Amino acid sequence: MAQAVAVTLETGGVLIVEAGTGTGKTFAYLIPALQSGARIILSTGTRHLQDQLFHQDLPVVRRALKSRTTVALLKGRSNYLCQYRLAAVEQEGLLSSREQVAELRRIRRWADRTRSGDIAELATVPENSPLWPRVTSTTDNCLGQRCPHLDACFFAKARSAAQTADLLVINHHLLLADMAMKETGFAEVLPGVDAFILDEAHQLPEIAGQFFGQALSGWQLLELVRDTVVEQAKDAADFPALRQRAEALEPAVLNLRQNLGVADRRALWREAVGQPAVQEAVAGVIQALDALREALKEAAQRGKGLENCQRRSEDLAQRFSRLTDEGLNPDQVRWFETRGRSFTLTQTPLDIAPLFQGRMAAQPGAWIFTSATLAVGQDFTHFAARLGVQDYTGLRLDSPFDFAHNTLLYHPPYLPDPTVPGYTVALLEAILPVLEASQGRAFLLFTSHRALREAAQWLAGRLDYPLLTQGDAAKAALLQQFRSLGNAVLLGTASFWEGVDVRGEALSCVIIDRLPFAAPTDPVVQARIEALRQRGEQPFPCYQLPQAVIALKQGVGRLIRDVNDRGVLVLGDPRLLSKSYGRVFLDSLPPMPKTRDLAQVKAFFTPPLTTGCDPP
Ligand code: SF4
Repeated sequence: MAQAVAVTLETGGVLIVEAGTGTGKTFAYLIPALQSGARIILSTGTRHLQDQLFHQDLPVVRRALKSRTTVALLKGRSNYLCQYRLAAVEQEGLLSSREQVAELRRIRRWADRTRSGDIAELATVPENSPLWPRVTSTTDNCLGQRCPHLDACFFAKARSAAQTADLLVINHHLLLADMAMKETGFAEVLPGVDAFILDEAHQLPEIAGQFFGQALSGWQLLELVRDTVVEQAKDAADFPALRQRAEALEPAVLNLRQNLGVADRRALWREAVGQPAVQEAVAGVIQALDALREALKEAAQRGKGLENCQRRSEDLAQRFSRLTDEGLNPDQVRWFETRGRSFTLTQTPLDIAPLFQGRMAAQPGAWIFTSATLAVGQDFTHFAARLGVQDYTGLRLDSPFDFAHNTLLYHPPYLPDPTVPGYTVALLEAILPVLEASQGRAFLLFTSHRALREAAQWLAGRLDYPLLTQGDAAKAALLQQFRSLGNAVLLGTASFWEGVDVRGEALSCVIIDRLPFAAPTDPVVQARIEALRQRGEQPFPCYQLPQAVIALKQGVGRLIRDVNDRGVLVLGDPRLLSKSYGRVFLDSLPPMPKTRDLAQVKAFFTPPLTTGCDPP
């Protein structure tokens, strides 16, 4: 892999590498990257992975190579303390609890000594503290060149270090936000470089869909209300009509939320907008937003904060109208999501390939895509097509771990079709003896929250091992508990399928309830399926099946994280054998011995190790 990366950095072009767990993928791109002398953007999936790469892996390789390459870390602006907003919160003094007062003091003490302003440094204020959005900035509320704190601005400093670094570590959200901004002609954030190395590249198509589209949330509208009220009190106290108009927007937004239905859901916008009550609620928001916009125009001269609110009101009004008007480009899907008291309206492109290709063409040089899960079988066609990449070199490197001796795939017999109502209970009955044999130490990964809840209820009181369920605590806390308990059973959905690393015996069994096909009722999936049909293509083999294979590989990847790890994978879904496409899943998994015999599972967990099982 290091050789292939070095050649691509030297000659340009596109390299796609699937490198299984334990191949040393990170070092295999860091070493040639640091030796190449090229200017490189290195992007990975999450902020957490970004920190790990920048603070752990990169220093090791730099030291070993005695590299003088300059490196920088850049995250999205919401990860940096905003001096202007911190000062505003301190001045307002409107904090809802003693806890927040204490947190604000901690933030101030840290603000006076931090050099990066990266909020991940301050572990004593929880990530989900309501204070963070108030003391960090968004593109909406940042004052930019008009900011009195610009010289000390942490985000501005991080951005300027990014402009000159030889190797810049970012995340996909930032990369794609930047690509999307370039599409619309906004100022550029990321520097021009010779090469891009994109790790966890399997996530790119989905993230690109979010950024090449448009979205607006009820929360953004309510934030405009809050900020206008604060700025009015500060700079336009003699203009009470401004406050009244801002406050009139709030009930209009909440009315729209209410009319989108009580339950949290994701659905096509066309389903909601057919209802007269929703149409009226939309008109109510437009009217209130227009009235506020007019008042802000009058007040904008009075202060920088009001000027910013005025600019935002224009932008939000335009976006809201665009997202709710009649005309819709057939290449896009418009949908909404409701969660608690908030909602989001979104327009997503059905095919990001032409947009992504456009950006790649504008940045010629080397493009290296890598991940542990990019291929379906031996083939990269699906991944390449989703990004519109036609000309590329593909490389697949299997995990060096000894799957033949250290793993076993168990496919329980006699389970009903997963679409019948009793499926989850039948699966749980089948896996109880497996959990006994593994003495807990298992992940149960579900494809739906409904199945997760059903399993949590059914398993309560039936297990001799601690049961941890997603939602009972934050993900990091649950994983910490899982590791320290050493015999727990953890139930999780999508967020536990990826990026979870539990090494050693604490995780000895991964059970996956169904083949992870995306729900065909999801509005984006539904629209993509319709669009493919209209183009005369078959959505199942071209889209749904390869997506599910890659998702399954991610889930399976949780089991063996280290050379000494051993474990059993249980795939419950009977379609694995009853449908012809089951073969595609099996062919994409590491070479594990397979069995349908529970006795072999028990033997696996009873030393000495027994293998040599029959294929199912
Ligand atoms: S420039 Fe923007 S992010 Fe920086 S301190 Fe000012 S308002 Fe905050």
